[in-house]
Amino acid sequence: LVTVGGSRLVGVLALQGGVAAHVRHLRTLGAETREVRTPADLAGLDGLVLPGGESTTMMLGIDREGLTEPIREFVSGGQPVLATCAGTIILDDDHLGLLDISCERNAYGAQTRSFEGGVSWSGTTFPGVFIRAPKITRVGDGVNVIAARGEEPAGVRSGAITAYTFHPELTADERIHR
Ligand code: GLN
Repeated sequence: LVTVGGSRLVGVLALQGGVAAHVRHLRTLGAETREVRTPADLAGLDGLVLPGGESTTMMLGIDREGLTEPIREFVSGGQPVLATCAGTIILDDDHLGLLDISCERNAYGAQTRSFEGGVSWSGTTFPGVFIRAPKITRVGDGVNVIAARGEEPAGVRSGAITAYTFHPELTADERIHR
């Protein structure tokens, strides 16, 4: 995802959740996109986005479609992954176990506690959209915090996986997708 160009093909897991906004950002940046619903859809991708939504529903869909092992293989192969919100939850130690973090779901409270606020990111402030967002409560060795809201991690990176608790696809700011 670092050098998105015309030839890049990026998949967006499309079982449930906020798919279209990711597709829009990626296309604006010149990438081609593919909605991923089955294991075959992972073939030939240069990267994968795990969107926000409902992690429980997403996990049921992943199981139903037989995507658990194929996603695991894709990620283990070192392909770039961008996860947002529920996408981050499904990578954690309680779900797919592909990222050595723990998350507390809905950690800011109910839907009415959703909010927008600045996130420290890459030496600047990124507009953070937090929708029934999780908090990252544990960060394992080899996982770097790359975004924070106050003292709390709001984004992490481990190898080729980048995961945020907020929704960069719901702002006009495309820097994270770039
Ligand atoms: N609350 C959702 C969950 O626990 C995540 C919300 C989101 O992705 N915006 O799965």
